[in-house]
Amino acid sequence: MRALSPSPLLGQVVVLGGSIAGLLTAHVLARHAERVTVLERDQYAAGPEPRSGVPQSRHTHVLLSSGIRALDELLPGLTRELRDAGAPHLSVPADLGVWQAGQWISRSHPSGPIMTPTRPLLERAVRERVLANPDIRVLTSTEATGLTGGPHQITGVTYRSRGGDHQARHSLSADLVVDATGRGSRTPEWLTALGAPAPDEELLETGRAYATCVFQTDELVPDGHIRGFYIVPEARQPLGTIILPAEGDRWMVTLSGPRGQAPPNDVTGFVDFTRDLPHDGPHKWLSTAQAVGRPVGFRHTTNRRRRYDRAARHRTGLLVVGDALCALNPVYGQGMSAAALNAVALHRELAGARATPATHRLQRAVLRSSRGAWQVATGADGAMPGANGNALRTGVGGRVVNWYLDRVSERVPGDPVVCRAFRDVFSLLAPPSSLLTSPRVLHRTLLRSPVQTPPDLPTP
Ligand SMILES: Cc1cc2nc3c(=O)[nH]c(=O)nc-3n(C[C@H](O)[C@H](O)[C@H](O)COP(=O)(O)OP(=O)(O)OC[C@H]3O[C@@H](n4cnc5c(N)ncnc54)[C@H](O)[C@@H]3O)c2cc1C
Repeated sequence: MRALSPSPLLGQVVVLGGSIAGLLTAHVLARHAERVTVLERDQYAAGPEPRSGVPQSRHTHVLLSSGIRALDELLPGLTRELRDAGAPHLSVPADLGVWQAGQWISRSHPSGPIMTPTRPLLERAVRERVLANPDIRVLTSTEATGLTGGPHQITGVTYRSRGGDHQARHSLSADLVVDATGRGSRTPEWLTALGAPAPDEELLETGRAYATCVFQTDELVPDGHIRGFYIVPEARQPLGTIILPAEGDRWMVTLSGPRGQAPPNDVTGFVDFTRDLPHDGPHKWLSTAQAVGRPVGFRHTTNRRRRYDRAARHRTGLLVVGDALCALNPVYGQGMSAAALNAVALHRELAGARATPATHRLQRAVLRSSRGAWQVATGADGAMPGANGNALRTGVGGRVVNWYLDRVSERVPGDPVVCRAFRDVFSLLAPPSSLLTSPRVLHRTLLRSPVQTPPDLPTP
């Protein structure tokens, strides 16, 4: 892709991390830079396979409606390619058994799409499209080890090659360094080493633990009518379950439980765990299916947001995106969509710019684009028993908002208007504040009783 600006605004850009956030950012910045270099610690496999630098790649990865839109805006036709490669495209709630607030959501409510490719398939599709651009080069098996420059200006990175001489350190200068190294980002320590303050951190954790196992079955769809299950974890019912189809006639099954109730990592225990769900539909279906391999666990589910936007005013040359900026409890399935929204925000901020934009402006735009996801994840987690952290909503205002959102949630299963508004927020199509400002949602939430839906699995 050729630079769109008459003269590149950004000079040399180095992106650390070549996963979803790093690749999408490289794609956007390549339009405005002389050159973009991506440093990736892993070696990429030729096929769509999990890799060690992305341990979550063995877990279910849902692409929300906002993510579908954002990816197609950035890489037109990408989700069509995924569908052609077998990635399922589902309507929610029409195609799923979704259990929330003690009942099934009516499947006749207005529906929005999600996609459920495996994570390796999605990442490979993004990678192939992005790295086809000759203005982007990628150095794999290359691990970033630090930043260069000073407290007020980042001028490059240090790195080592994982394949060759481990002791040898190299450096690369850059006008802009982008950290997209994910949840394990070390930029706070690297800044401290340069004499700059580490960013403020906002945290909220519930101790939720995850396990995922792949299944196969002769049953085309669970229960013959629906294409999967989503049992939403809530304060009164803290066990979560996601059963979704993926390409290759596989089913991705993810179970999650709060602190002290981690799903087991053996197949029998994994299936037995679903006996405690509020409905026997998922257990019955899992009992007819065969596990492919063992369940894989995951425990790093803390919501963590680093406020680089506050410090960025006094510093140039560093931008942080994706999970390195805002890591979300994965149970809400938002991270990839949020990363795509980060890239769209950058694209919009840079489009039409005549002069190099200040780094803090870019950082603020990126943070703003993941604010909705942060509010959803911390709002829902904040209501869970044992939630703690400095991002917990406390005080009278927080309690009133939680009380109201609880009422919204109770009305989702039986009220099509509240369901649509709620799903739009969860899909990151609308800000959480829309649940408080829409007169129709307010009226139904405050003045109408919840409508009961049938106790059996919903039929179309
Ligand atoms: C269990 C689990 C389930 C999830 N489910 C969903 C879901 O259903 N839907 C959804 O949208 N999101 C989900 N997510 C979140 C999603 O995986 C991430 O938000 C998404 O991958 C974007 O992350 P990223 O690109 O910022 O970081 P990552 O995908 O974590 O990638 C970081 C990259 O940086 C590289 N790297 C790390 N350190 C260095 C270094 N020093 N030098 C060079 N390279 C480095 C790594 O090798 C890797 O390639 C889930 C996450 C987890 C943990």
